[in-house]
Amino acid sequence: MAEKHVYKFGVDENGNNVTEVAGASVDEAKWITGGKGANLAEMANIGLPVPPGFSITCQTCVAYSGAGNVWPEGVLDEIDEYRKDLEKRMGKKLGDKDDPLLVSVRSGAPFSMPGMMDTVLNLGLNDDSVQGIIKQTNNERFAWDSYRRFVQMFSNVVMGIDGDLFEEAINAKKEEKGVKLDTELTAEDLKDLTETFKQIFAKNVDSTAHPEVAPEGIASFPQDPYLQLRLAEQAVFGSWNTERAVLYRKQNKIPDDLGTAVNVQVMVFGNKGDTSATGVAFTRNPADGTNERYGDFLVNAQGEDVVAGIRNTEPIADLVKIPALKEAGEELYHVFEILEDHYADMMDLEFTIEQGKLWMLQTRVGKRTALSALRVAIQMVEEGRITKEQAIMRVAPDQLDQLLHPQFDPKAEVDVVAKGMNASPGAAVGAVVFSSDAAVHYSNIEKPCILVRWETTPDDLKGMVAAEGILTSHGGKTSHAAVIARGMGAPCVCGAEALKIDAKAKECVISGTDIVLHEGDIISINGTTGDVIIGEVPLVRPELTGDLETILSWADDVRRDASRGRIFGVRANADNPEDAHISRDFGADGIGLDRTEHMFLGERKEIIQSFILADRTGDKQKALGKLLKAQTDDFLGMFKEMDGKTVIVRLLDPPLHEFLDNPREYAVELAHAEDRGENDTQIKARRDLLARLDSFQEANPMLGLRGCRLGIVYPELTEMQVRAIASAAAHLKKRGFDPRPEIMVPLVGTWQELKVVRDQVEEVVASVVEQTGVELSIPVGCMIEIPRAAVTADEIAKYADFFSFGTNDLTQMGFGYSRDDVESAFIPLYLKKKILKTNPFETLDSGIAKLVKMGVEGGHASNDTIICGVCGETGGDPESIQMYYDLGLDYVSCSPYRVPIARLAGAQAKIKSNGGPAKL
Ligand code: PEP
Ligand code: MG
Repeated sequence: MAEKHVYKFGVDENGNNVTEVAGASVDEAKWITGGKGANLAEMANIGLPVPPGFSITCQTCVAYSGAGNVWPEGVLDEIDEYRKDLEKRMGKKLGDKDDPLLVSVRSGAPFSMPGMMDTVLNLGLNDDSVQGIIKQTNNERFAWDSYRRFVQMFSNVVMGIDGDLFEEAINAKKEEKGVKLDTELTAEDLKDLTETFKQIFAKNVDSTAHPEVAPEGIASFPQDPYLQLRLAEQAVFGSWNTERAVLYRKQNKIPDDLGTAVNVQVMVFGNKGDTSATGVAFTRNPADGTNERYGDFLVNAQGEDVVAGIRNTEPIADLVKIPALKEAGEELYHVFEILEDHYADMMDLEFTIEQGKLWMLQTRVGKRTALSALRVAIQMVEEGRITKEQAIMRVAPDQLDQLLHPQFDPKAEVDVVAKGMNASPGAAVGAVVFSSDAAVHYSNIEKPCILVRWETTPDDLKGMVAAEGILTSHGGKTSHAAVIARGMGAPCVCGAEALKIDAKAKECVISGTDIVLHEGDIISINGTTGDVIIGEVPLVRPELTGDLETILSWADDVRRDASRGRIFGVRANADNPEDAHISRDFGADGIGLDRTEHMFLGERKEIIQSFILADRTGDKQKALGKLLKAQTDDFLGMFKEMDGKTVIVRLLDPPLHEFLDNPREYAVELAHAEDRGENDTQIKARRDLLARLDSFQEANPMLGLRGCRLGIVYPELTEMQVRAIASAAAHLKKRGFDPRPEIMVPLVGTWQELKVVRDQVEEVVASVVEQTGVELSIPVGCMIEIPRAAVTADEIAKYADFFSFGTNDLTQMGFGYSRDDVESAFIPLYLKKKILKTNPFETLDSGIAKLVKMGVEGGHASNDTIICGVCGETGGDPESIQMYYDLGLDYVSCSPYRVPIARLAGAQAKIKSNGGPAKL
């Protein structure tokens, strides 16, 4: 069958539902007709009042863009048929002078990208059809208002004419008439404005822009509604690739090759007087999850008025309080219930009431904060709508980061100078900036900032990404700022009306006070309460309590349930008792990596320096003695903190010179000493030291004397570390603790290396057992982080109780990318050019995954009981966690603050790989 490019939805001229669905479920259909199109079809099918229309598929967009903005063969005819069919279903024609059909043309990708792509409303109006609207509605003001809006939107969105030109013309008109609000302009004023807008169009249009449809050029506002339609459809397809849409997709990890659908839908009007209204709503509170109707509406307005924040909206709960809207309002509340029953999720929706009749324009699964995601998921389980496993799948692991992020210290005293709406929770402190460019600049110089705007627009996205938090003086909880901030997990306070912002002057007066904020002044905002505070409020990390704890405990039950796939652990990378404590609080099953070199920082550096540089055996022994004492204390702290849980201690790994002073800097010091006239003996000692420092320099330190090579060259270091580990364990065991250390050998490339170190480890442990009389069993394993180790894992596994994949080094050596340099040098460019899909140091690369696979398979081939895990950075990345589960690993280990994210992601990976969530 030939590919279908267009699907219709809604009823026909007899009121029969004629919806064509693009897939067996909304989830399937959304890949074809986009989220909006698929859900419009779904709503029509469950009997909700949806204005009829049709969707042109996302695949058509991909083909159109891929061919350099050329329509695939035959598609224009297909669209034309559907357009004629729509005219037949409605008994009206576009552009008709007596009773014209008007349509909206909207984008709608498989994933929601709010405000990022184009929309054109009131299409079909021209000098004739505006008369038809007047005849039909008897409302001249409405007709001219619709026409001027259409000219304005079409000019800006479709033809790229600067939107400010139209705003300026409106303001000039209002000034001329001495009025403040758009709504105070008369029919005659709006008719005049329409004329002015058409002149602006003629003056500013690039008449040669569309030779494919108008070879003779477009010099004046197009009167042909079919030309209007075609240009609008093309504009929507084109908006898939605008800079802001591309950036939004990158931020939200939405693939670039999905395309958007175009939805052409019959217009309904919320601006036909006081029996009409329009609004956006959520079936529950998307900020905190409370089970209440949430949203805003405006009487006598069109959709964009609500989100643009031009007029202050009213809460959805008040809709039924307006007598003329009561009935439609009650019907809307009932629709909330129908939608929740049908989708078993919290939905967001757009509606219009046209002269008392309710119309549903859109619904989709509502975007929500982490707080709300948890609350709603738990409520839905309690209400018997979904299973616990479905609830686990409903929370995006990365979103939890929001909850693990700072809040105001409850002990801090704060002086609230302004209050807005609590649009996106969490707290932020930073310098005030008034433009997105300034926010990007502050972020580049690593200074946290708060973006302060009257309202944000889609063009502010880059500033919103760069800022720690967002503060606006206008707009409601469904304004652009609020929706985007919630999606990003950035704290946001919106509609703080006391702020009088003059962005050009980079100044903001807080009315009712004598405070004037300038760019760079520090403020704090609390998106959980809506508070704005001058100066820096101390921030604290929240604890895992309440809903988060509940979902994570459900996730743990899944991870640990051996009857549904393998037990999948989550450990932490921690190298001091404080971090170990946080890891334990955050629910880590153990420590997967204790990098002991981190224990040699600060004052310890001198001791290890004196060991490395000492040329007399006695000095070396003295240094080792001090190190032994210090390390034993370290391990006592770690094992006590993690009592009863595994702690994998890794023997020293980094190149030795990392502990030493830089010879170049030391040479300068020597020159100063010579200038100061130090005596010959002192200078000679300094020269000797410089020569020794020089001798530790390596051309490629990352490939030099590091890892197990270090312990083989300096076995006394291995002995010291192992003795410290074993002694600390023996000491604690004697006191009734349950220490569970394991010893990990880094940077193993051959089985011979591991055997040499293992033999030594076993010897030292045996001697501690003998000395202390305490029985110790300390497993010994190794990192798999050199490609050769992955390839020969079967040989190495004979000497290893466990493997831990070090994907930082494995990626470095697998790709030949220096992990310390390339992330700033060229990875951003590679991502932009799509040479790389993701940064391989953040998300496990498919090629490196093959090495891990070889390692796991080789390990299991020669050692039935080997435990395999990962401790590179990718161990905390949800996408990689799915790959690790599928590769057969037993656990992931990540930084303490990512442990809750990994607990959830681990459960999700297991659920996905075992046939999806259990259903009711
Ligand atoms: C690794 O290489 O992935 C690893 C965990 O070790 P490090 O980062 O300490 O080299
Ligand atoms: Mg490593």
